[in-house]
Amino acid sequence: MGWIDSFSYWKMERYEKYLMTMQNLGECPDCKGKGFTIPYSVYAAAYECPSCNGSGLYSDWFEVNG
Ligand SMILES: [Zn+2]
Repeated sequence: MGWIDSFSYWKMERYEKYLMTMQNLGECPDCKGKGFTIPYSVYAAAYECPSCNGSGLYSDWFEVNG
C-alpha cells in the first residue's frame, strides 16, 4: 500500500464518520440539513439540494444515495 492508498483510505474513513454523524443528526450530508446547497460565490444563487430534494433530511438523502 503506497502513500496515496493510505491517504484515500483516510479520506474514506473520515467521510464515513461524517456520514454517521449526519445520520445521528438526521440531516442530509450534502447540504448539512439546510435543504439547499451553499453557493460557490456571492454572485451564485443557492439552489435546492438534489440529494435530499430540498428537505434536508438524512432519510431523503439515503433514498437517493444509499
Ligand atoms: Zn440535502
